[in-house]
Amino acid sequence: MSMLAFPRRIRDRVQGGLPLAKLTTLRIGGPAQYFVEARTLRDVADTCAAARECGLPLHVLGGGSNLLVCDEGVQGIVLSLHGMKRIQAFGTKVQVQAGANLSALVAACSAAGIAGPQSLAGIPGTVGGALAMNAGGRYGEIADYVASVIWISPEGDLQSLYREEITFGYRSSMLRSGVVIETVIEGTAGEHAQLVARARTVLQEKLAAQPYSEFSAGCTFKNPKGQSAGRYIDQAGCKGLMVGGAKVSDRHGNFIVNRGDAKASDILELMQQVQRRVFEAFGVSLQPEVQIWPGRVLLAA
Ligand SMILES: Cc1cc2nc3c(=O)[nH]c(=O)nc-3n(C[C@H](O)[C@H](O)[C@H](O)COP(=O)(O)OP(=O)(O)OC[C@H]3O[C@@H](n4cnc5c(N)ncnc54)[C@H](O)[C@@H]3O)c2cc1C
Repeated sequence: MSMLAFPRRIRDRVQGGLPLAKLTTLRIGGPAQYFVEARTLRDVADTCAAARECGLPLHVLGGGSNLLVCDEGVQGIVLSLHGMKRIQAFGTKVQVQAGANLSALVAACSAAGIAGPQSLAGIPGTVGGALAMNAGGRYGEIADYVASVIWISPEGDLQSLYREEITFGYRSSMLRSGVVIETVIEGTAGEHAQLVARARTVLQEKLAAQPYSEFSAGCTFKNPKGQSAGRYIDQAGCKGLMVGGAKVSDRHGNFIVNRGDAKASDILELMQQVQRRVFEAFGVSLQPEVQIWPGRVLLAA
């Protein structure tokens, strides 16, 4: 495909062969065949249409904090909404665009006296990524606060969805199959100073438990129902395991960190070793939480 297939008005925003590693928190991965940074809804719609017309896969990039991009990179279009970050509070609701950082949303809620989303403090990435992954932790998940979402559906239609029309699961949602553009988040009335303190407490708990200063994509595997993936990984003796530059964190078994020079193939190999060991020890088949680009089936234990 040539750049000419992109509508003229977004052509200057299309970059060929852009390296993706720096756009991910793992700092790993090859280039995107085409990379587009959208600034408006029209940019997003034009990019989706161009992908469909040219038969190219479309990948949406948020903060890259839950992503493992393969060393060969990604064919097709990688669409970033980093140019769409508007946040507007009204009453106990906030209208926020998908490219805004989740931490900015949490701060805006606290500033506007909106209680609830402080439970998401410390989760890296964008609001769009959080909705696609149904990000959350021990105090709740983003689905708890969603009033509505505007997205482009997998069929290419611009739609407004109420909460009841959206299926969220554990670290998953139907929204990952389309492009989230913006959402309305709803909390309850709260007191500014208390909300700031609450967000700080949640953040500090996370900092104490997770290797935040290292390159990672957060939890590698989903927790099996009612169990902790990290505990299984510890008990299977995986802590500290290494493949090339990839290592199972000494601080949190479910984090795989890039020690600086890891390749995606090192991370994948280490993930498979962990899956194998946990399956042999406990008969438990760990499923990846981290999204792998382009999609790849890991060991079916
Ligand atoms: C140190 C660390 C701690 C973490 N702690 C937590 C935690 O406590 N809880 C938790 O749930 N996660 C955690 N994570 C994982 C990650 O931060 C979340 O999954 C986050 O919500 C991903 O958002 P993102 O914008 O970075 O998405 P990305 O990693 O860029 O993308 C993830 C998926 O979302 C899709 N996506 C992104 N934007 C959109 C959009 N606009 N429309 C449609 N699909 C989209 C992508 O295509 C991809 O499939 C952690 C990660 C790190 C590095």
